[in-house]
Amino acid sequence: MAYDAADMYAELARVVCELGFHKKLGSLALPYPHDAQLILDRLTLRCLRSGHEPPKGLPDLMAWCTDPDAVPSVLGLPSGHGNGFAQPLIDPQRWMPTRTCLEWASRGPQGTVEQEADDLVAQLAARAGTPGLRRRCLTFVGDHPSVVQRDRMTRGARWDTTVWHQVRHLYRPAPDHLVVDRTLLLCGTCGLPALTTPTSPSGGYRCEREICPTDVEPRVVTDPAQALVLAQSLRAFVVIPRPTEKAVLEQLEQAGIRAVPLSRGPGVHRLTGERLTARTMLVADRRQPVLLAYKAEALLGHLAEERLLVVVPGRAWDTPGYRAEFEAAVSRITAPGRIVLTKPEELVRQARAERTRTGTRAEGSTLTDA
Ligand SMILES: [Zn+2]
Repeated sequence: MAYDAADMYAELARVVCELGFHKKLGSLALPYPHDAQLILDRLTLRCLRSGHEPPKGLPDLMAWCTDPDAVPSVLGLPSGHGNGFAQPLIDPQRWMPTRTCLEWASRGPQGTVEQEADDLVAQLAARAGTPGLRRRCLTFVGDHPSVVQRDRMTRGARWDTTVWHQVRHLYRPAPDHLVVDRTLLLCGTCGLPALTTPTSPSGGYRCEREICPTDVEPRVVTDPAQALVLAQSLRAFVVIPRPTEKAVLEQLEQAGIRAVPLSRGPGVHRLTGERLTARTMLVADRRQPVLLAYKAEALLGHLAEERLLVVVPGRAWDTPGYRAEFEAAVSRITAPGRIVLTKPEELVRQARAERTRTGTRAEGSTLTDA
């Protein structure tokens, strides 16, 4: 496949992630890392060819990445690459890679972040051995974006040492970029690391989930050496979808359908139960519906399944344009009805729906709009 504008944007996202996790973006000095220099050269060439003023250097390019339109307009990224959900690669308030950046960095076979999460989950599944322990480990990881030593002590006998032994290596000391004034901030809603946003009109902080309310008191860890933080890729692709996954499992349990997590990657489950027409689901919480569609298509290919249910939070489902962008992308890459977008409340109905020539028909209903 030819190297196109979307490939270049994904490459830029990977460079932003790489730089953002190790040092403060925007304070970069020469010589730049090889991949960063390479993408800078490529974008400069692109600018010169298209009559745009090129970036003055890497810090300038990073500043461009705080604008959702700057680089896409230079690249001429066509609609259909999530342009309806424009979000910059770098959050201008936290000066950190955004969720959109992590999703773009995971695009295609060269992708890095989600692929690391997939590998870690697969290794965890292999280590755990039994499906029961695998489920307990994944549940623990999803519910614990960080672990503070004091919590372990206070839980005493309720601390699951078998699980901790399996997952301990997925937790690392709090990275430098998350520790400000010797303090680690954890979101009061989702528990993910957060940074204060002094320039925000609402004040407060902004966490990695990006959508949590800012008026909920955060947890302040004043001795970050006592805290371990889950790997970034797992925070993005296991912790963030966790509330949706909980809602999904509840719906399935009420319908008598069993879900067994597969080792293919986070959120992938095999369904067993009566009257099912779809037996595999991916639970995901993504900012970019088009990139999610590509992910689903790749997964379908690997699993050699007839149909795949993709369950997103009701919030995403209800966002104007989200379903339309997903559907438009799916229609370009696979046959109708093979990939079905749904939300937790609709999942059981869709899992028992018939596939038709134009899409799916849920039990006892007219053609769905999914
Ligand atoms: Zn949060």
